[in-house]
Amino acid sequence: MPIDIENDNIQTALKKLKAREDSFRQLEKISHLGSWEVDLITHKSIWSENSYRLYGFEPFSIEPTFETFLSHLVPEDVPRAKLAIEKLLASHEASSFKGKIRTEDGSVKDVLLTAQALYDKNGTPIKLIGTTQDITQQVKSEKKAQELSSIIENSANEIYILDWETDRYLYANSTACDSLGYTKKEFLALTVFDINKSISKEKAQELKNQYEDTPAPYIMIQTIHTREDGTVYHVQSNLQHMYYNSKKVYVIFATDVTQNILVSELVEKQAKLLKYQASHDPLTNLPNRAYFQQKIVETINNAKNHNTGFALLFLDLDHFKDINDSLGHQIGDKVLQEFANRLQESVRHDDTLARIGGDEFTIILNNIKKIDTISAIANKIIKTMQEPIKLASKELHITTSIGISLYPKHTQDKSNLIKFADTAMYKAKEEGRNTYQIYSTDMSQYAYKKVVLENSLRVAIKEKQFRVYYQPQVNSLEKKVTGMEALVRWQHPTLGIVSPADFIPLAEELGLIVQIDRLVMQEAMQQFSQWYKEGVHPGRLSLNLAMAQLQQEDFSNFLFETMHQYNFKKEWLELEVTETQVMQNPEYSIQLLEQIHNQGIHISVDDFGTGYSSLSYLKKLPLNKLKIDKSFIDDVPKDEDGIAITKAIIALAKSLNLDLIAEGVEKEEQKEFLLDNGCNAIQGYFYSKPLPADKMKIFLQTEI
Ligand code: C2E
Ligand code: CA
Ligand code: CA
Repeated sequence: MPIDIENDNIQTALKKLKAREDSFRQLEKISHLGSWEVDLITHKSIWSENSYRLYGFEPFSIEPTFETFLSHLVPEDVPRAKLAIEKLLASHEASSFKGKIRTEDGSVKDVLLTAQALYDKNGTPIKLIGTTQDITQQVKSEKKAQELSSIIENSANEIYILDWETDRYLYANSTACDSLGYTKKEFLALTVFDINKSISKEKAQELKNQYEDTPAPYIMIQTIHTREDGTVYHVQSNLQHMYYNSKKVYVIFATDVTQNILVSELVEKQAKLLKYQASHDPLTNLPNRAYFQQKIVETINNAKNHNTGFALLFLDLDHFKDINDSLGHQIGDKVLQEFANRLQESVRHDDTLARIGGDEFTIILNNIKKIDTISAIANKIIKTMQEPIKLASKELHITTSIGISLYPKHTQDKSNLIKFADTAMYKAKEEGRNTYQIYSTDMSQYAYKKVVLENSLRVAIKEKQFRVYYQPQVNSLEKKVTGMEALVRWQHPTLGIVSPADFIPLAEELGLIVQIDRLVMQEAMQQFSQWYKEGVHPGRLSLNLAMAQLQQEDFSNFLFETMHQYNFKKEWLELEVTETQVMQNPEYSIQLLEQIHNQGIHISVDDFGTGYSSLSYLKKLPLNKLKIDKSFIDDVPKDEDGIAITKAIIALAKSLNLDLIAEGVEKEEQKEFLLDNGCNAIQGYFYSKPLPADKMKIFLQTEI
């Protein structure tokens, strides 16, 4: 309550004054404020109670002077303080000074002095009055704030403060400025959309709504920042709502994650690449066997669920092995690639084409409703192969055989589906290749037999279950045995004697014929040497050799080693090759046969007349003998065509200066006809069936 000069008595006025002083003292305490005055003439000071406390004195325990103040200032602040006072005295205005004092108890305090000078009538300063405020706490928190803002400013993250309503930047730290190429000042003119170009106003609003709805303290988003120069980078942003200078703002902490994204993309790409490699064939880029196996399971499941059907095609190039063997793997690879390309063009894109090994390919034809559709596609594939494959000035004519199985018609089982398509493919090969076959149950039995036969044939080779029978070749004019043909028999442990007609074709297909022919050669040579030693004259040995045998690199070696081993003379030998096999690749045959012929070995052409020999090749081949095929002999002497052909062959042999023999001669009149027409050499049941060695020995010792 203020003192009322007119009405208050001294007592009341003093009381009021006392009360005011009390509250003033209280106020000083609360605000950590002490008041003071300095007489500039005497330098004596008057301090309020709180001023004493500020310096660590008991109130009124000393008589303070201006020096008391100066001596408590930390030394480094003294020159500044003096300067400030000089300025103050000159300025006629109130001013303040911040500094540090060391109190009586040794602690250091931050203080803010605010002072003003009082002047006499002449303008001479006579007094300073002012306050001292303990601002230690304030300075501390200011410092803390400064440190914090420096941390924010220098953080490796980009930190932004944006106005919640306008999306304008209010602050961007130095990393943000460096990353984006804007100055702090330029930032203040931008909105969040200038930097995050992919974010629309609507999207921003949506995010804000989402943020306000979520109990989480922040939300995370991924955006793309566009730099001042137009380049971009990916950031992960943490967005938080706050107050800044009493304004509703949002703070963004953003981290450049371009590297992370690049790395994870790379990892992903690598993973994809590895997956691709694991499921694709590097030569043709087609899905491989593993992929196909997986795909067929999927296709079956899909067909089951939708009650649909599909077809599985099994394809194999005809005689691909020959291409590889004669032209080399590089050409073989090119052929496979070209085949893959043509297949690709023949199927629809939702069909699955795969290379499951070697020259074997499969196609899953989806959603097939009519057999006609399948046939059409199979025919289309066969047709695309009619166009020759042109490789390095060569034109290759290559065909394919296709086997087809149907889901669910033939089976619902994956392995059977593949097996049946494979079986049908073999059937297509049997049918002469360059064709397709749709599976039927009787094929399976055939295929089963074949598998059994194949296995037991391998065992037969291992266990040498083969026997050699001999059939004499007779000069019917002189009634003399001139030689004999070795004919193989399979002494099967349960089936008994198996005829070569039943196993030679398969042995040829499987390449097992090479080993079989060698076993026959060894046994027959040994037998012949034995007979010569015993003084029995068997004449010349005719060995049937498959073309595959002659193509073996070590054939000559093996032949001569075997002769050497059994003391077998080369003038005792004649090799038989069939006309069909020779004419499959005549130029190559000429080359192979010449090597053998040059070493003094006789060569005869078997089954002559059945193989469409061209006369020009026949002249070039190094031959000694033609064997007239049994089919013509069967027709003589009654059938006119048979007579004509046989006569023609005899004339041909004479003109080419070749020896001649007729095989399959069973009857007297056949023998007579041949003799009448100038063919004296006869082989056939008329003289003898093929016989085992012991029986043949008896035959040799008997007169014809
Ligand atoms: P091929 O070389 O034409 O042998 C002649 C075949 O005709 C033999 O059949 C023989 O037994 C039969 N034959 C001979 N004279 C007559 C006759 O008057 N009437 C009848 N109906 N048949 C007669 P085989 O022994 O069953 O041999 C069949 C084929 O198997 C042979 O035909 C030959 O191509 C092949 N072969 C036999 N042994 C071997 C061998 O050791 N190696 C090779 N690569 N093939 C062989
Ligand atoms: Ca023969
Ligand atoms: Ca023959």
